[in-house]
Amino acid sequence: QAKASGRNTYSFFTYKMNDMILRRLEIEGQLRGALERHEFEVYYQPKLDLKTGSVTGAEALLRWHNPALGQVGPDEFIPVAEHIGIIIPIGKYVLEQALSFLLEWRKAHQQQYAIAVNLSPLQFRDRAFASFVEESLVNANVRPECLEFEITEGVLMIGKSYVEEALSKLHKLGVKLSMDDFGTGYSSLSYLRQYAFDLLKIDRSFISGICEKKEDRDLVTAAIAMAHSLDLRVIAEGVETQEQLSLLADLGCDIAQGYYFSKPMPANEMMKFRYDKISE
Ligand code: C2E
Ligand code: MG
Ligand code: MG
Ligand code: MG
Repeated sequence: QAKASGRNTYSFFTYKMNDMILRRLEIEGQLRGALERHEFEVYYQPKLDLKTGSVTGAEALLRWHNPALGQVGPDEFIPVAEHIGIIIPIGKYVLEQALSFLLEWRKAHQQQYAIAVNLSPLQFRDRAFASFVEESLVNANVRPECLEFEITEGVLMIGKSYVEEALSKLHKLGVKLSMDDFGTGYSSLSYLRQYAFDLLKIDRSFISGICEKKEDRDLVTAAIAMAHSLDLRVIAEGVETQEQLSLLADLGCDIAQGYYFSKPMPANEMMKFRYDKISE
């Protein structure tokens, strides 16, 4: 009996592993030509200023639709793109799209607006990255302060001089740096100061428990105080309820983003997006 169930457990795991390996191989295969086949689309998720209730900008989030695989999420395909060495052209595509969105936005609206683009650690290894950003800004005729880069703590953990160089070049260009997923890694005060970050983005996992769990609320409270003492603005990601929103406003959080306002959406929808719940 024990032997039989042991064998079943074994085969269960091997089947599962097989499935995982097959899916990974399929994603690799399909991903290689995806850019050329125009299978990517950049979606945008709005960010709202908690004091004024106005839209301060949006985060660019990449979407991939493949005829064979359907919709594949970035959490699944970005690591594969990094692994097979095509994250650089993909990252350039996202930046180009984001800049042309900014241009369209400026034509249609008057307010100050910023688009945030997520960066992979590997994009820092591309020594020409900062110059590429500079050229793209000039070509698109977009002011540098309208562009933000969201960087996770993992990038800083590399501890390499090229990372430092790239971050300081970007800072000198005048683009904004945002620490993404704050609280999940090991970033410290000294990092935030050393690399001249402008924004601190508190990870969704702390926001989801903020109303029920005292530990989460304490961490968020401390992060906001710390960020403000360093002159950083604070963004809460993953805000899903009115209760979370009003608590965050009470705690002095500056900006919020999440399904409560909107899920990420195509450029044309983002262009028309209006929000009026805050002032109600
Ligand atoms: P991230 O930068 O931390 O983005 C936040 C993720 O949380 C997004 O998932 C967003 O759709 C989701 N989200 C936002 N609000 C809520 C909410 O209220 N509830 C819930 N449950 N989720 C919410 P998404 O779009 O699947 O992206 C996942 C990750 O993939 C991103 O995490 C980012 O690390 C990466 N990624 C996305 N686009 C790009 C890109 O263009 N380049 C790079 N390098 N990475 C990207
Ligand atoms: Mg992000
Ligand atoms: Mg995040
Ligand atoms: Mg994340």
